[in-house]
Amino acid sequence: MDRPSPGSLADFLTTEAQAIAGACMTCGECVRVCPVIPYGAATNAPAEQVVGGIVGFLGGQGELDPASDVWASTCNGCGLCIPVCPEAINPRKMLALASARSASRGSKTPELFRRMSRAIRIMAAMQLIPEEFRRVFVPPRPRRAPIVFYLGCNALRTPHLLFNSMALLDALGADYEVVGGPSSCCGVIATKWEGEVRTGERVTANAIDRFEGFRPERVLNWCPTCQLHLGETLEGYRKTAYEFDHVTEYLVGRLDLLREKFVIPIPRRVIVHAHVGRADICRNVDLLLRAIPELEIIETVFESGYTCGGSGCSKAPELAAREHGELLARAEATGADILVTLYHGCHATFIGAEAGGKFRVLNYTDLLVEALGGIPHSDRLKEFRLLDDWQMIVDEGRPYLQANGLDVDPEWLKQHGPAIFASLEFKGQLDCFEKGHAHANPA
Ligand code: SF4
Ligand code: SF4
Repeated sequence: MDRPSPGSLADFLTTEAQAIAGACMTCGECVRVCPVIPYGAATNAPAEQVVGGIVGFLGGQGELDPASDVWASTCNGCGLCIPVCPEAINPRKMLALASARSASRGSKTPELFRRMSRAIRIMAAMQLIPEEFRRVFVPPRPRRAPIVFYLGCNALRTPHLLFNSMALLDALGADYEVVGGPSSCCGVIATKWEGEVRTGERVTANAIDRFEGFRPERVLNWCPTCQLHLGETLEGYRKTAYEFDHVTEYLVGRLDLLREKFVIPIPRRVIVHAHVGRADICRNVDLLLRAIPELEIIETVFESGYTCGGSGCSKAPELAAREHGELLARAEATGADILVTLYHGCHATFIGAEAGGKFRVLNYTDLLVEALGGIPHSDRLKEFRLLDDWQMIVDEGRPYLQANGLDVDPEWLKQHGPAIFASLEFKGQLDCFEKGHAHANPA
């Protein structure tokens, strides 16, 4: 983010859209390499026409044509289109801008933020003790801190990964503060999904102001969606004085120190799940895992998209289902002890596979903490998934909900828990959080 602020976010997005519309030659190369095209309505349309519809829309045309609309709404963020563009346009950003513009004329997921934030609160409250719950939901008082660890929103559904990451930062002696939860959202939901750009501007500004309250040198981010929104779609929107990196970049920068601290060998054979959309982060994870004594990486299996989950590979569900099936088959065929997951969305996608009894499913942060001689944070989401019985899940989670001050009716939770835990608000569902509903605002 090194250009001067252009003013309002709406103006910035319009300027960026028009710049792309003016530069794109509609050669269609980005469409030809795109892996989601064969799975949607654009499959039989000429590539030039599919991208032409996007370019016309960004340039001011009133409507997106159906094939272009499907392309934009099924983009899983894999980034394969970026290196092939002869005009050095980022087509992934082009589609994010088109999605935001399209949502501003009628969102397919209105009220997404309201539903998502309530779902996240319930899920996190079922997994954390009050001290931990406060740490990820309540913004700390501003002070001078060289590092901010930024969690985003949805990672709070799988909080054990975040607490593992904090254990790693602690082991390295990092001086940091934690910023996260829906009150510090990056703004992608309002801007890109709901099409509420003025709200998105306010939400993004709030998150950046919160970072700047600590006058940090670095903001270490966990969530790949925040990384794409703040670091790619909004690149240049607001000048900031800190570096915005993924947390693995910081860890890899201290790999020698970590090697010294990895005192517990882990003699296991693992298969690693990765995504092509941010291959640099996957390379970091690979370097970190290879520093663990006696750990053997049998294979790294790259999937399409930049992450699993609602804004990543779930946008093209048929492709995702095929690739997930291939990964699980490789884990089984290679006799791996452990399937290693990447982000929170990936972890939530694969933890249920442990029920097959063939291999364990762990996040890379679990292994890093174990190698340090620590105890990884308990993965209650996996425990719930493996219980696979919502009466038992409610019985287990209720004391935590109550301890965290959430009064949720057990029958309501039993009925709606499966949809909440499946993040169905990203598919326009979770009406249980409609305004006026008894549990629309668990507090
Ligand atoms: S990021 Fe991937 S899915 Fe999206 S347009 Fe580019 S190639 Fe297609
Ligand atoms: S590859 Fe680049 S120039 Fe060609 S259609 Fe795609 S965005 Fe436009």
